[in-house]
Amino acid sequence: MFRNAMRALVTGGAGFIGSHLIDELVDAGYEVKIIDNLSSGDLNLISHQTEAGNVEFVKGDLTVLDDVMQATKNIDCVFHMAANPDIRLGTQITDTDLKQGTIATYNILESMRVNGVKKIVFASSSVVYGEDAPMPTPESHGPCLPISLYGASKLGSEGLITSWVGTFDFQAWIFRFANIIGERGTHGVIFDFIHKLKRDNSRLEVLGNGLQEKSYMEVKDCVKAMMHIYNSKNSPINLYNLGSHDTCSVRRIAEIVVEETGFDNATIEYTGGDRGWAGDIPRAMLSIEKMLSTGYDVNYNSEAAVRHTTRCLIEEIGM
Ligand code: NAD
Repeated sequence: MFRNAMRALVTGGAGFIGSHLIDELVDAGYEVKIIDNLSSGDLNLISHQTEAGNVEFVKGDLTVLDDVMQATKNIDCVFHMAANPDIRLGTQITDTDLKQGTIATYNILESMRVNGVKKIVFASSSVVYGEDAPMPTPESHGPCLPISLYGASKLGSEGLITSWVGTFDFQAWIFRFANIIGERGTHGVIFDFIHKLKRDNSRLEVLGNGLQEKSYMEVKDCVKAMMHIYNSKNSPINLYNLGSHDTCSVRRIAEIVVEETGFDNATIEYTGGDRGWAGDIPRAMLSIEKMLSTGYDVNYNSEAAVRHTTRCLIEEIGM
């Protein structure tokens, strides 16, 4: 296989989005190294690449500076995808996002600086905008006022990254993701609904009133957009929202999951309230004009991505 000289480190490469990013990088001829502590990742998601000898896997923890120092040696670019994926956890444990998000990002940046690696691609999130942002929310919106501890850790990480650009001549691609869904999903609303129905197919409990409405992006669309922008934009700081053209309500997702699982008699029950949990943002839609201006467009809009994901996960879960 043709290999160019680019050596990429993917943090969180054994996770949902990271595993798809690895497929893109391998296809593009990168030498790929992964660091992951397997806290929410799974080696099965990348076994097709590890077993083919296409990627190097290192079990390591980003909160341990030594692990990161080792992993960032002889690398050209770091794709920093690792984080605690569970936004709700912040309602109970208040230092997880700080450690697994902000401090882990500091460890990456500092190790990169010491090892002379200057390019970083970062998986940020739409939740940095908070809940009072205009919709669709453009990248130029500010101030960003996150309302979850996870959102704060992403915004803190972005600040560290741009400061390393300003101070140490780094280059950064920061991507604020909408809700990313698709094949190999291991968490999130569709995954939860399918598992709930698997446990009890007579009812489906939905957190909140179901009117929460967010934008969903299919995972392959997401990683292709990342690579397209990484390859075509070369500013010191390249900040892009990644999402689709529309939104889908939680109510509609519940209906689609019930329909696709075939449990037509399941009653959909709402716990009530305008959001799933404290810190959840009930309505979110990113402006994707800037992404579109690069010449990249998505293959799936929100509802089509939801249906496609539901079908993939039903098959993966084996229902
Ligand atoms: P994921 O949980 O599947 O992947 C995260 C990976 O990071 C896992 O493999 C986990 O084991 C690893 N990890 C976590 N902490 C680590 C540590 N301390 N050291 C080493 N590895 C560690 O989640 P995902 O959905 O694939 O998310 C990937 C990235 O995208 C995350 O940064 C997430 O915050 C961001 N993001 C995801 C979404 C989404 O909808 N899935 C939306 C916005 C942003």
